[in-house]
Amino acid sequence: MNLNLKGKRALIVGVANERSIAWGIAQALHREGVELAFTFLGEALERRVRPLAESVNAKLILPCDVKQDAQVDELYKNIEKTWGTLDFLVHSIAFADKEDLEGSFVATSRKGFLTALDVSAYSLVHLTRGALPLMQKAGGGSIVTMTYYGAEKVVPNYNVMGVAKAALECSVRYLASELGPQNIRVNALSAGPVRTLAAAGIRGVKGMLQIVEEKAPLKRNVTLEEVAETGLFLLSPRSGGITGETLYVDSGYHILGM
Ligand code: NAD
Repeated sequence: MNLNLKGKRALIVGVANERSIAWGIAQALHREGVELAFTFLGEALERRVRPLAESVNAKLILPCDVKQDAQVDELYKNIEKTWGTLDFLVHSIAFADKEDLEGSFVATSRKGFLTALDVSAYSLVHLTRGALPLMQKAGGGSIVTMTYYGAEKVVPNYNVMGVAKAALECSVRYLASELGPQNIRVNALSAGPVRTLAAAGIRGVKGMLQIVEEKAPLKRNVTLEEVAETGLFLLSPRSGGITGETLYVDSGYHILGM
């Protein structure tokens, strides 16, 4: 499938290792000829991210902790200097304190609540604001973020992350509405459980994978590749008429009532 993406430029935020959903999407974009910029969170992950990024000829590999405004500013300054424009943003990050991803939701601390919302939801607004002038110069753009069904329905142990994903999905709609006139699309991809570092932080993820296999219409879990190809679709002009949407890649699990 030739998507005519050769020479387009994408910023990928959220690669931790070769299992990351962001890495899956990055590989699909690379296959289509898109130039890539990567971020990493801290030195330990840099050691993982740098070789992956270099394997797809990325020239921009920059630190970005979304809690640090200065790092986000510096990131976009570097992209501006090197590329001058940006076509795509992949936002594939989330974080909550471990104690908030198990047990009692009512026990969630203010600090834990704000951390989860800051890193997992506000960061989309912040990173989109930084991308805006570069996408305007490109004549438009497309942004995709990663969400999960726990935004809408109660999933054991997902707790404050469910609240953060609800805020994320709602932010997608507000951003899409505001940026649509500038030819910038914003969509969310709601993936079923995939074995990644972030998933390992959710207690009982093994059980979630089993339940999907038993109950979902497709009777199996989704693959990283399936999620990645849908990410590529949402970024590419093939989805040109879609914005503000949450698209499920979950073997159909979300359609079930009982
Ligand atoms: P992952 O652990 O590979 O990726 C999570 C990324 O978030 C990491 O690269 C980490 O460095 C980054 N991150 C965390 N805190 C950050 C901060 N302060 N600043 C910058 N980056 C930060 O796991 P993943 O499963 O690929 O997660 C990617 C996204 O997909 C997340 O939003 C996650 O909630 C979502 N998602 C995952 C699944 C799943 O089952 N794996 C399902 C649905 C949605």
